[in-house]
Amino acid sequence: MMFMDTEAFKEAYLKKLIEGEGITADEATTWDKFVALVMLLKDKISYYRAVNKNSWSPGKQVYYFSMEFLIGKLLYNYLVNFKIEKIVKEGLFELGINLEELLEQEVDPGLGNGGLGRLAACFLDSLAFLGIDGHGNGIRYRYGLFEQKIVAGNQVEAADNWLKNGYPWETRKAHKAVTVKFKGRVRSEIQEGRLVFIHEDYEPVLAVPYDVPVISYDNPRYINNLRLWSAETVASELDLASFNRGEFKQATGFKSEVEAISYILYPDDSSRAGRELRLKQEYFFVAAGLGTIVRSYKKRYGRRAFPDFPRRVAVHINDTHPVLCIPELMRILIDEEGLGWDEAWNITVNTMSFTNHTVMPEAMEKWPVDMLKNLLPRIFMIIEEIDCRFKEDLKARFMDDEEVIQNTHIFKDGYVWMTNLAIIGSSSVNGVAHLHTKILKGDVFKDFYRVFGYKFNNKTNGVNHRRFLLAANPGLARLITEAIGPNWQEDAGELKKLHVLKEDPGFLECLGKVKYDNKCRLAASLQKKYGLILDPSSIFDVQVKRIHAYKRQLLNVLKIMHLYNLALRDPESLTGSQTFIFGGKAAPGYHYAKTVIKLIHCLSKKIAQNPAISSKLKVIFIENFNVSQGELIYPAADISEQISTAGKEASGTGNMKFMLNGALTLGTLDGANVEIREAVGEENIFIFGLTAEEALTYTHSGGYKPWDEYHSNPDLKICVDHLKGSFFEDAGEEFRMLYDSLMIYHDEFFILKDFPAYLAKYGEMQELYGHPQEWNKISLLNIANSGFFSSDRTIREYADWIWKVHYRTTHSKTII
Ligand SMILES: *Cc1c(COP(=O)(O)O)cnc(C)c1O
Repeated sequence: MMFMDTEAFKEAYLKKLIEGEGITADEATTWDKFVALVMLLKDKISYYRAVNKNSWSPGKQVYYFSMEFLIGKLLYNYLVNFKIEKIVKEGLFELGINLEELLEQEVDPGLGNGGLGRLAACFLDSLAFLGIDGHGNGIRYRYGLFEQKIVAGNQVEAADNWLKNGYPWETRKAHKAVTVKFKGRVRSEIQEGRLVFIHEDYEPVLAVPYDVPVISYDNPRYINNLRLWSAETVASELDLASFNRGEFKQATGFKSEVEAISYILYPDDSSRAGRELRLKQEYFFVAAGLGTIVRSYKKRYGRRAFPDFPRRVAVHINDTHPVLCIPELMRILIDEEGLGWDEAWNITVNTMSFTNHTVMPEAMEKWPVDMLKNLLPRIFMIIEEIDCRFKEDLKARFMDDEEVIQNTHIFKDGYVWMTNLAIIGSSSVNGVAHLHTKILKGDVFKDFYRVFGYKFNNKTNGVNHRRFLLAANPGLARLITEAIGPNWQEDAGELKKLHVLKEDPGFLECLGKVKYDNKCRLAASLQKKYGLILDPSSIFDVQVKRIHAYKRQLLNVLKIMHLYNLALRDPESLTGSQTFIFGGKAAPGYHYAKTVIKLIHCLSKKIAQNPAISSKLKVIFIENFNVSQGELIYPAADISEQISTAGKEASGTGNMKFMLNGALTLGTLDGANVEIREAVGEENIFIFGLTAEEALTYTHSGGYKPWDEYHSNPDLKICVDHLKGSFFEDAGEEFRMLYDSLMIYHDEFFILKDFPAYLAKYGEMQELYGHPQEWNKISLLNIANSGFFSSDRTIREYADWIWKVHYRTTHSKTII
């Protein structure tokens, strides 16, 4: 159906351009041409949707609630999914249009900020691919996190106005809007012998959905939806009246207060107003999402069918931001549908499942009691009741000892602890890698584990191997397909078949050539965008991820400083040429992280000033790391830096994207690195440093003295001293806080402790790089064993064990 060949495509496309934009191909701007192509695909999607409606009845619905969806660009991936990228490219070419130029028109939606949001996006792809009715539910932020610019080494945050030109993939569904109620008072009364709660004098906000289609690879029947909510005023006659009376400020002031809810991802939380706005956002998309879910459930099954709700609907809570799903579903079932508490609670718990993403204590979400109570009075009452009944339950089970009570409180120190509410109100609590789940059970939530042991489980993260290999690395994808056929695209486990080629010098050479080409591709892009010059024959050692103390970019910097110091003493000490690539955003208020960015810049400059050394050593920082940058960077990496303090990185997904693209991992035994080691074998990964257990023991019982490391290692001492001395001209005291974090504040992340082992492992890799055949063999083994880290596998596990939903097991296609 629809343009199966180039001619048909050309005809449909030209028609679209004229019909949709009212212009001919000659008049159209590149943007017009891009939009027309998107519109054409949306027509195709609508067509398949309509066909599906008549041909099957839907199964269990899964709703993935997430504050972030870092989806990246869609156009190229959707051409690949429909398997029409060749037809479209050729057709456009014949019309004198370059597909590449159209692809560049698309912007990365500002709907997320890092790994968590990207995971949600990978999950959407796999849900569609597996034929699960699984939909995303989130917020349509007018502005993203920020666009990062580096000016004189400093991060400068510019507004990420991603919607500036409009976003052609979205469709506004005004008729599906939902009213969300904030503030006001709750009154109770007896109606027909039943206590009912009435919410009055609330401030209504209209939640308007914008839908973005999510399509499956190679099966056009599977079309899901990412629903993003935008806040608007409920236009009332009152507003109009005040506007007409000339009270413009009052009328428009209210409007902008309401619209602020979906204005920006992560409002500045340094003020109380900013924090309250964030809480508003959370309730806003939860209430809007659940409102529609219940509405469509009733339409399909009738209101008597509520006991079956958990069999037909699963709601997944991605990190704590959507935890208000639990009291909100309770509210709907009790206040609007008239169910009793126990029945509503059963339905709610069995519907909800929760993923924890972090063990960092400062990231455990909590809200001041008075704020939550004032903003969401009815929800607050329900949370109080949940807490009260949970305590009674503990007592009844003789588990109400002091420690358990202390560590499972929903209310503590004047705050509402969202993680505790999530665990109590869900049927499943999962960590995101084996080590992480082990730490949750044994440490962070050990008391909850005693009470609800059966809820805890692990689902190791995964990444969308079609986006990050098939689409982002066409050279490697082609090589793999030529070697083992195309089935790996649907079943990443098939990559195992590459094992037979590990001793094939010809194949390994081709693999090296593909890597080299990808490095050239990255170098060309960086030269074009930033004027940077990279040497593609040097080793590309890459650390791209959010800048954070626990991710230890500083450890990497100290290593490079050390190499520089060596080269100063003896230029011959540098074997081969090395390029260190950094990228990642620092949170706007995170001074430490911003200082690390500045440090990278200063070191880069310092090295560049010395021609003898800079021909072999180069440091670059890539501005504004995002999904699109990632698609160029991951395929071009030789070394993947995964060097977080063991026990701190829940899983990581960057590590998987690098592995899939044949980079060798230099990392700690943290997060999914542990499982990467198991998959690839310890001789094919470069692991160093403390284990999580050792780091935890030091943290809990002391005994780690950074000064000992400092004094016993002269090489290290010089590097650390660079942070406060005159090594960086005119840096003054700029890096003093980094020095202090190590030497005064006890090096919380064990940077000095791990430094010698890190250097040694890096040295091994440098040495190995001089033996391309051996290097490429390990690279191949990484690719061959990366299948486990496809998000298809992760989603199958969620489907089997958490959501209890069927998915297709064989690749059955239906030709429409
Ligand atoms: C994969 C990804 C991340 C996560 O990287 P980690 O190394 O796991 O922290 C962050 N940002 C973007 C844009 C990504 O694609």
